[in-house]
Amino acid sequence: MMKQYESIKQEHQDAFLFFRLGDFYELFHDDAELAARELEITLTKRGKGEEAIPMCGVPHHSSEHYIAQLVEKGYKVAVCEQTEDPQAAKGVVRREVVQVITPGTVMSEKGVAEAANQYICAVLPLQGAYFLSAADLTTGEFHVTRLQTRAEVLEELSAFAPKEIITVKEEQEQWQTEADTRLSALVSGIEPDAAVQDGTVTASLNEAEARSCQLLLQYLHETAKRQLDHLQPAVSYEAAHFLSIDQDSRRNLELTKTLRDRKKQGSLLAVLDYTRTAMGGRMLKRWLERPVLHRAEAEARHALTDAFVTLFMERLEVQELLKGVYDLERLSGRVSFGNVNGRDLLQLKHSLQQLPALKERLRSLQTDAADEIAESMETQDDLASLLEASIKEDCPPSITEGNIIKDGYHAQLDEYRDAMKNGRSWIASLEKQEKEETGIKSLKVGFNKVFGYYIEVSRPNLKYLPEGRYERKQTLTNAERFITPELKEKERVILEAEDQSGRLEYELFLAVREDVKRYIPQLQKAAAAVSTVDVLQSFAEAAEQHQYVRPVFTEHRAVKLRSSRHPVVERTIAAGAYIENDIDLHPDRNMLLITGPNMAGKSTYMRQLALIVVMAQAGSFVPAAEAELPLFDHIFTRIGAADDLSQGQSTFMVEMVETKHAVTRATPNSLILLDEIGRGTSTYDGMALAQAVVEYIHGRIGAMTLFSTHYHELTKLDHVLEGLVNVHVSAHEENGSLTFLHKVVEGAADKSYGIHAARLAELPEELLVRASAILDGLEKQPKKSPSADDAPHQEAEQLTLFPVEGETSPAMKELKEIDPAHLTPMEALQLIDRWKQTLKEEGHG
Ligand code: ADP
Repeated sequence: MMKQYESIKQEHQDAFLFFRLGDFYELFHDDAELAARELEITLTKRGKGEEAIPMCGVPHHSSEHYIAQLVEKGYKVAVCEQTEDPQAAKGVVRREVVQVITPGTVMSEKGVAEAANQYICAVLPLQGAYFLSAADLTTGEFHVTRLQTRAEVLEELSAFAPKEIITVKEEQEQWQTEADTRLSALVSGIEPDAAVQDGTVTASLNEAEARSCQLLLQYLHETAKRQLDHLQPAVSYEAAHFLSIDQDSRRNLELTKTLRDRKKQGSLLAVLDYTRTAMGGRMLKRWLERPVLHRAEAEARHALTDAFVTLFMERLEVQELLKGVYDLERLSGRVSFGNVNGRDLLQLKHSLQQLPALKERLRSLQTDAADEIAESMETQDDLASLLEASIKEDCPPSITEGNIIKDGYHAQLDEYRDAMKNGRSWIASLEKQEKEETGIKSLKVGFNKVFGYYIEVSRPNLKYLPEGRYERKQTLTNAERFITPELKEKERVILEAEDQSGRLEYELFLAVREDVKRYIPQLQKAAAAVSTVDVLQSFAEAAEQHQYVRPVFTEHRAVKLRSSRHPVVERTIAAGAYIENDIDLHPDRNMLLITGPNMAGKSTYMRQLALIVVMAQAGSFVPAAEAELPLFDHIFTRIGAADDLSQGQSTFMVEMVETKHAVTRATPNSLILLDEIGRGTSTYDGMALAQAVVEYIHGRIGAMTLFSTHYHELTKLDHVLEGLVNVHVSAHEENGSLTFLHKVVEGAADKSYGIHAARLAELPEELLVRASAILDGLEKQPKKSPSADDAPHQEAEQLTLFPVEGETSPAMKELKEIDPAHLTPMEALQLIDRWKQTLKEEGHG
């Protein structure tokens, strides 16, 4: 047996081998040591002394739980079963691996998260590009796209957030390195096998796309080791079809989970999620992670959301119906995988029974978008009737113990059941009859597994029993048990009928399940329609609950938001406490430089715009009184987050890398949010970088940009950069304490209020007084001031330290800027003195 083990293990080196021995799965050697640690189970030994090998095991009936745990931790598990009857086996029982369960292919209910898709991706380098395919085995969906660079592949991968990535052997190591740092996915390299084909999946693809899908299919088949009828035709898409939000931005904006504890609670998803089905919940998440770029598509969603907002009664009815729809997508997947039971089929039936009414309600909305969805929602009445006729409402979870199939579904089964019923009622009447005839009141007929049916007479009553009436079978302390030939005959009939009906029921169940398989494509189509309806009614519900408005897309590049709010922040503070703000951007005003004290609401304001853009392009209404937006192609953010430190990068480096993404990839149709660039280095450094970034975006890219900063010196840039406008978040200062008004108004803030903020944080008073004194001192020495504040001449000075494009001499530039009418004689002298100093330093003087 151990030889058999070794040879099987040889084939599955990268997986835990769960080796079936009777009622247990056993693990040996290194597998055992690691599994014992990971699962916190007891490590034992097989054999004695030197020869002993480490071993541990889990009971077969609770294995699902242990397997799910290991897979969750990113391991693979190969399940090895006995594939012949141990009684019939000569020598060692034949064993085979029947399935390899991996993070990306787990199908059991315990292992699969309901609220999210479970993607597995394949990356195939080909023709100087990369072909990325992605599948969700639980739902059968397949996608494929062509990407030019590794960076693009990484970006796309992060959108799928796969648990597992498949690539060719040569590339495994490289992708594993990337995956470890950014994706936390398990990477497997495999040798492509041209023999693997699945015409359904690759039907509409070109050859290169098909080969990427085949690589993935190969892995899915190698691990599942069975027919996968639920895999859907792969959809080829272009990444440019969607609003692209890179991985960091998606996290920073907390679209589907929070930065801090990675929970849904506190994310945009949580605010918008009024879905009633698991499928709708997953689709909502997908839509928020991948808003669309096509106007017609987004507008069709708005139209239906609108209909649901207006038609309140219809919405309620639809919600009620949706509650009765189970997870059709995953049920279909499990039907195909062969692990559904009677109860799953009942869920399927109940779901199907909702469809006709759901369709009707959709039609009553009388909008094209609703009609289109209703059209695609085929009701599958035949399947519903089949399930209604065949599966009992109170069937057990097991599929081998009978009591699943309804009476009247199958004549032979009915006969067996009649036989059992007749036999049992004969036995029941036997007890009555024998009591009467013998006069023994306590006489009873019973059953046990060893002796079958018997007649029991208690010891004191034995004397009333006529000699030879029954055959003696078993003696107990207080009673004797007897049988009769007729009783045994009936028993034979009953047991035989039970046995046969059990077997027949199992066969019938499998046949029904096979039948259901034929409907999988239609079920998947219905599932897609139901999910869409669910997400849109959820948008409508959110719109009503939180007072959102339907956004309008404009052809020209302009953002016009009236009284807009941050959808998440407004829900976390007292009702009505949120201060609404307008946001206006257009080509002559495409960059807002936002100043204001810490905690005033600068980053909230910036995120607010990004979230509104995401919502609008995902198909949702938005938190504003009026909203006009262009369709953005990218959102880039650099918004402060301390969590990057955990990944071993310094905050400053992260900041620079994210800024690089923005400045190298943004287009005029992108949205860039940069929050306090340049904090992580010395003031001059930081300010220099910040200004250069602003100028670069302004001059080279022209993307709509919100840029918050505490370098007040930068506010002067509005003189030189046409599209740049200063706004600030207002605060009210009185007696040294600060009240935040959270209102964004035109113009630059007059101070940076750092010391006020420090006072709010309750630093020791002595320290604060000293800080004020130092600040005063610095403000009096313009030359050395590293971060001058409100004195206008100082701002000018700081600005000129960094040559603006086209300006050769900082001094010249400064001279141009100066308004002598506003200069005191003292200031003029100081300037001249400084220019002389600079010349001297440069070697001219
Ligand atoms: P900053 O980026 O200026 O340091 P934040 O944007 O982080 O400030 O905002 C600080 C806090 O102020 C937020 O957590 C929020 O609770 C509150 N806040 C921000 N904007 C508003 C607003 N418009 N209305 C009400 N509260 C707000």
